[in-house]
Amino acid sequence: MRLPEGVVFLITRRKQFGPTTFLWDVQAPDVARAARPGHFVMARIDEHGERIPFTVADFNVHQGTVTVVIQAVGKTTFEMMALREGDTILDFIGPLGLPSQSTSLFWQENSNN
Ligand SMILES: Cc1cc2nc3c(=O)[nH]c(=O)nc-3n(C[C@H](O)[C@H](O)[C@H](O)COP(=O)(O)OP(=O)(O)OC[C@H]3O[C@@H](n4cnc5c(N)ncnc54)[C@H](O)[C@@H]3O)c2cc1C
Repeated sequence: MRLPEGVVFLITRRKQFGPTTFLWDVQAPDVARAARPGHFVMARIDEHGERIPFTVADFNVHQGTVTVVIQAVGKTTFEMMALREGDTILDFIGPLGLPSQSTSLFWQENSNN
């Protein structure tokens, strides 16, 4: 789906966990609605930037936000670490990949009996 011109993605929350690790909540209602554990997104700061994959750490359909936890290791992730709450990025595309398959522990334990 092509988004209307001028659409950007707002960083609604930012939390620093350590010298190079931080969290973003990004306003992306369509991604939040479709996200499942195991999916990833592609984020890009601006038109000159590189697209970077991040795992969906959490999502909140009610707030329309998707959480990613980022470790700065190179050029783009250090540029991302400099962004603050209220800043926007150009792309936040997803969800991509295949959701994780999980089986209930209760079912596994009882299926052996
Ligand atoms: C499906 C998927 C999901 C991911 N999910 C997450 C996630 O949830 N959170 C997260 O933090 N990361 C995640 N990653 C990893 C993340 O995408 C990378 O850390 C990111 O692309 C790095 O981009 P960068 O531009 O910051 O680093 P780059 O500049 O591309 O550098 C990456 C690495 O290469 C090294 N490097 C760069 N240039 C050189 C050079 N010339 N010589 C030697 N070494 C060099 C850097 O030191 C660094 O270790 C995921 C990756 C994939 C594929």
